[in-house]
Amino acid sequence: MRLVLFGPPGSGKGTQAARICSRFGLVHLSTGNILREEISAGTELGLRVGGIVRSGALVSDGIVNELVFSRLDSAEGFLLDGYPRNLMQARRLDEYLGPRRRLSSALLLEVPDAEVVRRLSSRAFCSACGFTGSVSHGGVCPSCGGPLSARPDDGEEVVRRRLAEYRSSTAPLAAFYGDRLHRIDGTGTEQEVWVRMENLLRGLE
Ligand code: AMP
Repeated sequence: MRLVLFGPPGSGKGTQAARICSRFGLVHLSTGNILREEISAGTELGLRVGGIVRSGALVSDGIVNELVFSRLDSAEGFLLDGYPRNLMQARRLDEYLGPRRRLSSALLLEVPDAEVVRRLSSRAFCSACGFTGSVSHGGVCPSCGGPLSARPDDGEEVVRRRLAEYRSSTAPLAAFYGDRLHRIDGTGTEQEVWVRMENLLRGLE
């Protein structure tokens, strides 16, 4: 399967993406994680995009397209998480994949705004391995044992900007994908969402 997963910030994309990839054997590509790793490592790219990511705006299409395409070269089954983020990226991705590797489906994880704000204000981040999850882990990363802190782009003002960016740039992807689009109710527990997701994907396999 070749999948795209999108939804508002805090919709649980990262968590569901990891589960989908391990269950269905897909390569997981998260542009947000790749960018955060570059920023933490202080690479040239990280220095260029750090301010943009912290402000909640989108990094330029050219940079993210290149990041994704260079990692997709040999992947047959994959899931793109956080990419494409706008119509330009979506069109460019279709062009890059061509008819032979056409996307199977675009998955839209739907969560109401009030729930997004509630979730993001209790979200924790591990700068060592990039894990993003709930603060309920007691301040310790369940993935690598490192310390958890607030994600640099989860402040209230920035969250509002990321939501606005989602509505204006990313939400139009639903119409773009047309009959390739599948909507998943992202409310409830991680496990409840996963059951919906797995049922859907089993039908698409
Ligand atoms: P995410 O973890 O997907 O919420 O992404 C965090 C931040 O990384 C976003 O707010 C953007 O600044 C940047 N970013 C991630 N993916 C993209 C993309 N496809 N296009 C542009 N910017 C992106």
